[in-house]
Amino acid sequence: MSLEDLQIDKRWTLFLDRDGVINQKIDGDYVRNLDQFVVLDGVVEALARLSEVFGRIIVVTNQQRVGKGLMSMAEVEAIHASLSRELEQAGGRIDRFYVAPQLKSANSEFRKPQTGMALSARTDFPEIDFAKSIMVGDSASDIEFGHRLGMVTCLVGNLSASTRADFQLHSLADLPDLILPTANADSN
Ligand SMILES: [Mg+2]
Repeated sequence: MSLEDLQIDKRWTLFLDRDGVINQKIDGDYVRNLDQFVVLDGVVEALARLSEVFGRIIVVTNQQRVGKGLMSMAEVEAIHASLSRELEQAGGRIDRFYVAPQLKSANSEFRKPQTGMALSARTDFPEIDFAKSIMVGDSASDIEFGHRLGMVTCLVGNLSASTRADFQLHSLADLPDLILPTANADSN
């Protein structure tokens, strides 16, 4: 099966991890402020195209640094507001950001790979169908989260053979061409 075979349309939802998928991960550190939030190459353009295809685009991000007191929720939200403005200028959007601020040790149901953030999204957007959802992430917990919910899973970035994702991509920037090969051919 290919991503094209899924025949993605407005009934589908795109779930995205944030760090390492949308923006650069900082080795051994956190994204602490707006200056450190660097969107990966091609991602703004990709999200503009993906926004025309998917009914909903949702970010689900573990931000343990909030639980550790290293960042406030307001600072996290300021970064997300800035990203949303950048996406809107390019014709894209993210419908909502869900943030799990809990410490790993708290075993919260909201922290991936637990499914709480997706269940919250479906409460807020009842049209979301997990069987018609794609989860894109760069870690094993993202892929596990997607599997628990019955989503199609895509691993991006440093590909780990031990992670049982349905698909592996170099970058989120590659996703539009994989789900929209016909549209791509038309534009060439
Ligand atoms: Mg990540």
